[in-house]
Amino acid sequence: AKQSGRNRFSFYFDELNTDANRLILLDSELRKAIDNHDFELYFQPKVNVRENKIIGFEALVRWNSEKLGFVSPAEFIPYAEETGLIIPISEVIIEKACEELSILRKAGYSKLPISINISSIHFQQTNFLESIQIILERNNTSAHNFEIEVTERTVMNNDADTISKLVRLKQLGFKISIDDFGTGYSSLSYLVRFPVDYLKIDKSFIQHIVNLADKQAIVDAIIQMAHRLNMQVIAEGVESIQQLNQLSRMGCDFIQGYYYSKPVPIEELIEFLQFWEYE
Ligand code: C2E
Ligand code: CA
Ligand code: CA
Ligand code: CA
Repeated sequence: AKQSGRNRFSFYFDELNTDANRLILLDSELRKAIDNHDFELYFQPKVNVRENKIIGFEALVRWNSEKLGFVSPAEFIPYAEETGLIIPISEVIIEKACEELSILRKAGYSKLPISINISSIHFQQTNFLESIQIILERNNTSAHNFEIEVTERTVMNNDADTISKLVRLKQLGFKISIDDFGTGYSSLSYLVRFPVDYLKIDKSFIQHIVNLADKQAIVDAIIQMAHRLNMQVIAEGVESIQQLNQLSRMGCDFIQGYYYSKPVPIEELIEFLQFWEYE
């Protein structure tokens, strides 16, 4: 009994050590990756359901670390937010998005916009707008080529600063999506004062939309309300034809998800585009 107790004890510490070691490694690897611009962007199409047409893509960051292998953004983005590393990472991501945009334009796709996820930590920086503008100017491109995705939680504290930043983003030419909508428990009505173009319904609602009546009712209500407020609705995480049919019956404007494509590198995206109508 004594023996197994000790084993359990040291097992516990091994676990702790592993976690701590991973964090230390994650930190140093992330800093190295920032210096070397060692991130990639993958792209996932957004589809207009009614017209069966591609309207744009969301850029999603991918990181293959030398020592840790592939690390999910669901792991390293929250860590980067805690440590402030998200700001240089976000700048690298925007820079990459400009480079990939020019590849897309050279391939002949002259209008399709790229959506970029912006963390609330970056959004709340005083010089957030300037930091984006500098990168766009350096790459000879303009805001009209991009959309900004900010989460419901980011805009939930609807102070004057948040509103003025959203207004200025719109004035520059960005379209704005509210990401992860439905997870922040905020009411839709407060969004009226924001210059928002798209609502993205969080995939946790879409997952059970075919068999859970309450999820159906919520999604239906979000779509109707958004339309009344002159916003268009994007459903994320759509994986099946049943989900797609359900959403189009409800009048959902745009669909994103594995049903059409997982996020892919720009070269694959350009191949994929050959088989599609697009804006
Ligand atoms: P998000 O912005 O809500 O992105 C949607 C996530 O759902 C992505 O995961 C995407 O790959 C995944 N997804 C897309 N279609 C489906 C589907 O049909 N089924 C399922 N189960 N999942 C689907 P990913 O790429 O792992 O990103 C996770 C989160 O990490 C993102 O959630 C976002 O919050 C953050 N993130 C990713 N890229 C960036 C970035 O460039 N900048 C910032 N600030 N955050 C990012
Ligand atoms: Ca997003
Ligand atoms: Ca989401
Ligand atoms: Ca999210």
